[in-house]
Amino acid sequence: MTVNLGLYDLWCIRYAYAMSKNQIDIPENLPGGILDNQAQPASPLQPEAISELKPKLQALIKGEIDDSDVTRELYSHDASMFELKPQVVVSPKDVGDIKAIVRFVAENKKDNPYLYITPRSAGTDMSGGAIGESITIDFTKHFDKVGEITSTSARVEPGVYYRDFEPQTLKHKVWMPSFPASRELCTVGGMVANNSGGEMSLRYGKTEKFVQELKVVLADGNEYIVKPINKKELDAKIAQKDFEGEIYKRVFNLVDKHYDEIKAARPKVSKDSTAYHLWNVWDKETGVFDLTQVIVGSQGTLGLVTDIKFRLVPKEPYGGVLVCFMKNMDGLGDIINTVMTQHPTSFESFDNYTLNLSIKFFPYFRKTLGWRGLFKLAVQLMPDALILLKGIPKLVLLIEFTGQTQQEVTNKISATRDLLRHFKLQAMEEDDTEAEAWKFRIMRRESFNLLRKKVKDKHTAPFIDDLVVPPHNLPQFLPQLREIVNSYKLIATVAGHMGDGNFHVIPLMKIEEKLERIKLAPAMREVNELVLKFGGSLSGEHNDGMIRGPWLSQMYSEDMMKHFRELKTIFDPQNIFNPHKKTDAHWEFSMSHIRQHF
Ligand SMILES: Cc1cc2nc3c(=O)[nH]c(=O)nc-3n(C[C@H](O)[C@H](O)[C@H](O)COP(=O)(O)OP(=O)(O)OC[C@H]3O[C@@H](n4cnc5c(N)ncnc54)[C@H](O)[C@@H]3O)c2cc1C
Repeated sequence: MTVNLGLYDLWCIRYAYAMSKNQIDIPENLPGGILDNQAQPASPLQPEAISELKPKLQALIKGEIDDSDVTRELYSHDASMFELKPQVVVSPKDVGDIKAIVRFVAENKKDNPYLYITPRSAGTDMSGGAIGESITIDFTKHFDKVGEITSTSARVEPGVYYRDFEPQTLKHKVWMPSFPASRELCTVGGMVANNSGGEMSLRYGKTEKFVQELKVVLADGNEYIVKPINKKELDAKIAQKDFEGEIYKRVFNLVDKHYDEIKAARPKVSKDSTAYHLWNVWDKETGVFDLTQVIVGSQGTLGLVTDIKFRLVPKEPYGGVLVCFMKNMDGLGDIINTVMTQHPTSFESFDNYTLNLSIKFFPYFRKTLGWRGLFKLAVQLMPDALILLKGIPKLVLLIEFTGQTQQEVTNKISATRDLLRHFKLQAMEEDDTEAEAWKFRIMRRESFNLLRKKVKDKHTAPFIDDLVVPPHNLPQFLPQLREIVNSYKLIATVAGHMGDGNFHVIPLMKIEEKLERIKLAPAMREVNELVLKFGGSLSGEHNDGMIRGPWLSQMYSEDMMKHFRELKTIFDPQNIFNPHKKTDAHWEFSMSHIRQHF
C-alpha cells in the first residue's frame, strides 16, 4: 500500500501527537493584543453580580430585560463561528433607556470590570461582532421606526430591517443601494456599524458613502449628533469644556498630527471594512471634519447608534444581466478589464462549488421564493440546464447593467457581449430584463445562507470570508488562493464581487473538533499573506470582529495600530463598548469561544 502524505498531513500528525500528550492547544505566535491600559478579563460576571444585574437595570429603564436561558442561548450566537453568552438581553424602549444603561455601566465599571455593552440589531454579523458576555442591547424591538423620507434622504432607526426600509424609499423612486447579500435578514443599524456593502457597491460605494448624520450615545451616557462640520464649527466644538469637546480636540490632534501617515495607510482597494477609517475624518483641502466616518464600521466599539440619516439616490428603473460561463480561469484578467470598460452596475461571480450546491439543494430556494417563485426559477433555469450538461463551469460571471430605458440596458448588454465574443467562454446568456436577471442573482445572494442551513454534518466557518484584492490581480491570486484552500483540505465555496475583487471564501468544517480548529490560524496566516502580497485588504464588507481583529497588525503598521487604539481610548476610555472586537481582539480569546452548540 502506498501512502501519499503532504506537508499539511505531516503537520496534522505532529499536532495530533502533541495534543494527545497535552503539549499543545493553541498555535504559537498568536496575533492580536488587548489594550495594555484596558485589559478585559476573559471570564464572565461573578454569580452574585449576575443576579443583581437584572433588578438594578430594571429600576433604571422602561424597556424589557430578559435573563432566561432560552434568550441568552439565542443571543449567544450571530452568523460567525463564535459563541459568547450574555448575562442579560435588554430591549430599550427609548434613548432615555440607552443613556441610563450606559451611565450605569460607566459608573460601575471600576468595581465590576466584567460589565460592558454589546449592541445588536439582527445578529447576522459574520465576524462575532454582535455577541458579548455581559449586557446585550437589542435594537430590533423598539428602535424600529422609519422617519421622514424625501427624494434625497431618509431618517431611520437602527433596528429597522433593510427589507422593510427599501419599499418605503422606493415609493419616492430612490434607494440606499449599499445593501448586503443578507438584505432580507439584516437591519440598517448593522449595515452602518459594519460599513456593509454588496452587489451594488461597485457602482454606488458602501454604507459610509450614504451616512449623512448619526445620533450616537457615547461613553458619558449622553446622546450627540455627529455629522460633517467645517473648521469653524470644529473650533467651536474643541473649545467646549466637556466630553464631546475632548473627543473633537483629541481626534483632531490625532488625525492632523499624523495626517500624511494616516492618509497613506488607506487600503488601496475599492472596498474596505477593517480598523477605523481615520483617513476619512479630516480633509485639509476641503476643511471638512467628519466623525461619522469612524463610527460607521466601528462595530459598536465607539458608541451606540440611535438614529441614522441616509442619503438616497435614484434607482434606475430598468436592469438586465449578461451571464458568462467560464470553463477555466484563462483570460480572466483581460475579461475583467474588458467588462470594467463598460461600467457595469454590478459584476458578481460564483464558482462551481456554489453552483453544485445550488443544484443539489434546489428546493431550499422555496424558503426565500415560495412555491410559485421556485417553479418560476425552475422554468427559467431550463435553458441553462443544457449549458450545464456540457460540464459545470469553473466560474459564473454576472454582469449587470441598469438604465433609464429597456433599450439602453439591452444596448449595454449587447455591446459587452460583442467585446467578450473573442474570449474562450463556455457560453454566454443575455437576461435583458429584471424578470430574467434575478435567477442567478438569487443563487449568488443565497449561497452563504444555503451553506449555513443545508449542510448538516459540517458548519460554515467564516474566517477567510471577505478578502479583497485589486481586480487586475485576480487571475494570479485566485488559483493561489485555491491552492492554499486545498492544501488544508478545506471544502469551500468562492463567491463574490468580481468588479471590486472582493471574495467570500466560506469553508465547511467541524470547528468544534480540535483537529479541524487548529487549521484556522495557519490557514488564515497564509491567506492573509497572499492577500497582502497582492495589495489587498482582509475585509471588504464583513468587518473585523473577533475573527479578523487579531490580524489587523498583519495589515497595518505598529504606528497605525497605535492610532486606531488611541481613537478607541478617546471615545471609550473605560472600554465599556463591545470589547474583544477589532483593535481589542485577541486570537486566544476568540479561539477559546469557538461555537460548540449548533
Ligand atoms: C447570509 C449572509 C450574507 C451576508 N452577506 C453580506 C454582504 O454581502 N455584505 C456585508 O456587508 N455583510 C454581509 N453579511 C454580514 C451581515 O449580514 C451584515 O454586515 C449586516 O449589515 C449586519 O446587520 P445586522 O442587523 O445583522 O447587524 P448585527 O449582526 O446585529 O450587528 C453588526 C455589528 O454592528 C453592531 N451594532 C448593531 N447595532 C448597533 C447600533 N445600534 N449601534 C452600534 N453598533 C451596532 C454590532 O455590535 C455588531 O458589531 C452577511 C451575513 C449573512 C448571514
